[in-house]
Amino acid sequence: MQEVDIAIIGGGLGGLTMAIEAAQHGYSVMLFEKEQYPFHKVCGEYISYESWDYLERCGIPLSKMQLPSIHKLAISDLRGKVYDFDLPLGGFGISRYTLDHALANKAIELGVELKMGEKVKGVSDKGEGIGNKVEGVSNKQKEGGERQVVETDKTKVAARVVIGAFGKRSNLDIGWKRKFIKEKPNKINNYIGVKYHIYYPNKSDTIALHNFNNGYCGMSSIEDGKTCLCYLTTAENLRRSNNQISVLEKNILAANPQLKMILENAERIYAQPQVISQISFAVKEQVQNNILFIGDAAGMITPLCGNGMSMAMHAAHIAFHYTAQFLQDRISRKAMEMMYTKAWNKEFAFRTSTGRMVQRFFGGAATGTVINLLHKSPALSKKIISLTHGKPF
Ligand SMILES: Cc1cc2nc3c(=O)[nH]c(=O)nc-3n(C[C@H](O)[C@H](O)[C@H](O)COP(=O)(O)OP(=O)(O)OC[C@H]3O[C@@H](n4cnc5c(N)ncnc54)[C@H](O)[C@@H]3O)c2cc1C
Repeated sequence: MQEVDIAIIGGGLGGLTMAIEAAQHGYSVMLFEKEQYPFHKVCGEYISYESWDYLERCGIPLSKMQLPSIHKLAISDLRGKVYDFDLPLGGFGISRYTLDHALANKAIELGVELKMGEKVKGVSDKGEGIGNKVEGVSNKQKEGGERQVVETDKTKVAARVVIGAFGKRSNLDIGWKRKFIKEKPNKINNYIGVKYHIYYPNKSDTIALHNFNNGYCGMSSIEDGKTCLCYLTTAENLRRSNNQISVLEKNILAANPQLKMILENAERIYAQPQVISQISFAVKEQVQNNILFIGDAAGMITPLCGNGMSMAMHAAHIAFHYTAQFLQDRISRKAMEMMYTKAWNKEFAFRTSTGRMVQRFFGGAATGTVINLLHKSPALSKKIISLTHGKPF
């Protein structure tokens, strides 16, 4: 069986950047992505500037790509009244279609073995139940040089470190019975996300956030004069709309006059939107079954706070730091797992809990009052925005 230093499950921003960083440092990496690049993904596509330098270090020439620079925020309340804010650090717009594809190409160029179109079915201990216990992994604590086997329908690879970068919800979360999967639907775990690329004459330096009943819709510029329009709402809102996106948009989103105008006048670049369901902002574990989780697999920040992508890449950077120490036999596996968990929580636990708190204030009856209050207190709004953002890494 082929052996590698690191096997990564999931080729989104977390998985791809970790693969690139590890390959840049000379480690052998196999990365599994169930889709084929390039492909679209539900995401608001506004990336905070905290990860600009990191992406450039990963080999993506952002400064040559003429991407829109965004440093203003316009929020409309349920009635469509607009409030303007500054974004202290700001961000830039780029589609996931373009960015993930560029990172995948860079990873291949650096020698990462990229297994596209391969869905990981499970991870197991070497020699233990391979082939018949693929959906689970033993709880036995591993030490030192032992490897785990990552398996798809076509490939089996033994890796010293396995990274779970499979996003918000995957077959593996279910197979491993992760705690957040078992939670009943509640206020933080039953959302849907919908995304379009459109042509619309919006201001390219501004990200707009339009509230509607039990949801909000982000709109910001990306590459080539296009705009990303992406909204998050409750599964209940869709159910009340006969499970039809068009009815949801007509009856619920368009109750906000700003959104009505946009939905009626935007030119949709592809006819059908991207849609995902069962989005959860619940607290998750950062390590389980000796697998280090990064990105949304470790914990997802509400899109309202606009920087889940930077968090995924930052977590990849942190995970690589401890993984490299382990691979150089400078720390034990147990120490790697503990140090990573501690570092993740230090960097992201407060941000994600602030995100959950802020989420509760948006899309409900009090939305207008809260936005008005924030607008009248620039110091407070600046503080809240900065609490949900990190620093460049
Ligand atoms: C509605 C919405 C709007 C958002 N807007 C923004 C925004 O504007 N700015 C921002 O910074 N963040 C935003 N986010 C958050 C952001 O999209 C995520 O935080 C980010 O994509 C996380 O990256 P990741 O690498 O963890 O996961 P992902 O990018 O989701 O990648 C995970 C990958 O794993 C693959 N995969 C899953 N299971 C398997 C398997 N078993 N085998 C192989 N491959 C597998 C998937 O196909 C996927 O490509 C938004 C999220 C939502 C839901």
